Amino acid sequence: MHTLIDELKAAVSSPVLEGADITARYQHDWSSETPGVPVAVVRPQSTAELSAILRICNAHAQPVVVQGGLSGLCGGGNPREGEVAISMELLNGIEEIDTASMTMTVRAGTPLQLVQEAAAKAGFVFPLDLGARGTCNIGGNISTNAGGNQVLRFGMTRAFVLGLEVVTADGTVLTSMNKMLKNNAAYDLKHLFIGTEGTLGIVSRAVLRLFPRARSRCSALLALQDFDAVTNVLHRLTADLGGALSAFEVMWSSYYHFITDNVSKIVSPFAERYPLYIIVELEGSDQERDQALFQEALEGVLESGLITDAIIAASEREREGFWLIRDGVAEIGTFIKDTANFDVSVPISVMQPFLADIETALGKALPDCKMLVFGHIADSNLHFICYTGRREDIKRIYEVVYGKVGEYQGSVSAEHGIGVQKKAYLQYSRSVEEVALMKAIKQTLDPENILNRGRVLPD
Ligand SMILES: Cc1cc2nc3c(=O)[nH]c(=O)nc-3n(C[C@H](O)[C@H](O)[C@H](O)COP(=O)(O)OP(=O)(O)OC[C@H]3O[C@@H](n4cnc5c(N)ncnc54)[C@H](O)[C@@H]3O)c2cc1C
Repeated sequence: MHTLIDELKAAVSSPVLEGADITARYQHDWSSETPGVPVAVVRPQSTAELSAILRICNAHAQPVVVQGGLSGLCGGGNPREGEVAISMELLNGIEEIDTASMTMTVRAGTPLQLVQEAAAKAGFVFPLDLGARGTCNIGGNISTNAGGNQVLRFGMTRAFVLGLEVVTADGTVLTSMNKMLKNNAAYDLKHLFIGTEGTLGIVSRAVLRLFPRARSRCSALLALQDFDAVTNVLHRLTADLGGALSAFEVMWSSYYHFITDNVSKIVSPFAERYPLYIIVELEGSDQERDQALFQEALEGVLESGLITDAIIAASEREREGFWLIRDGVAEIGTFIKDTANFDVSVPISVMQPFLADIETALGKALPDCKMLVFGHIADSNLHFICYTGRREDIKRIYEVVYGKVGEYQGSVSAEHGIGVQKKAYLQYSRSVEEVALMKAIKQTLDPENILNRGRVLPD
């Protein structure tokens, strides 16, 4: 081990962290998966340094874990026994904003919020947005193909990546910093690395797609009586707003009232309680015209009885108040521990029976199990948190829920990824043949199996 660490020290300009210098920050992500202490933390400051690190580790068959902002929710960044952690925190910064091509060239360790702010300063928008924006890195977002709040309008991270630079397990640098939207020159290799959670290569730099900034935005919080109304409202607003609907976040009363009842400073703007709530947003180009269109569309769904109540945000502060309720999910850990957190997708057409089935199955298996439900919905993504307060029940909850996901032909991970947490349940969403091909790709790109070993793919 000493030779390896000495070689790593010689390869990077920043100190290699060992022993007491490896603070808790490098030991776990946001999930409740088992934390671990790596044998060392190396922090490359350039692609060349990252390449040297991997060349050394590969020669020693030394397993490594890749760490971005560590906001992941599946334990992918948690070190396992004997691993060296490669933290991307010092390989950061924005290299270029090309206003004519509407692209940004960025290093992997740059926090998402900095990317968003830099885009805004240059008069554009980078539309990836999620609650962990201040913590997560763009490299982590790319490696998990993060989704977030605006997938309905813009797609997932994959849709924003034009070019990528990746270092593979043996230290090879694959530079494909393409800036064009169209490029069919043979295989588009970047897709091997987007969403594969650091198992096939480490993202070092990327070319991101920027979009024109919306000139107008209208937001409302709606209250509804049942899930049928939710899907009808989605279809009506999608049609009535002419494709300008940019957010559609549904919160069941279980989740909504857990947050508004427990988190101080987060209050419901409604005097009454309802079974379901939706944050809807329109983004467009003319505030006056869009506000009128938005109001008219909401009056339409109110008059037809699809919604029971609605509050249109009259100020940015009111809008932020709606989103505080949705982003309040980050506070749940303060009140309940030992939760099973789900990020699944099923077709919208079966969402209601799927949830009802899960409630029944959990009720039978663990009668005191509680469930808080919310989700992006329009992109078929449901989030829910199940808990009994007993850590030993988590595995049973996983088995019940993922079994149902399989029955409904859904996905065990809509956006957070597999990590170590969902590895055993991948079979419910991917066939034996698909997993076999994934393993063959992994074997080709990483024959020593050093990159994020034991994550994503079943052993
Ligand atoms: C409050 C909160 C809200 C969230 N909301 C959402 C949401 O709406 N949508 C969503 O999709 N996710 C969400 N997440 C999950 C998380 O923020 C995302 O998965 C995010 O993309 C992870 O980025 P990170 O930099 O923190 O990655 P990390 O947690 O550091 O790593 C995640 C995985 O990617 C690998 N990795 C990291 N960097 C690289 C790299 N440069 N090259 C190769 N592999 C790498 C790691 O090894 C690990 O397997 C949320 C998390 C929190 C805490």
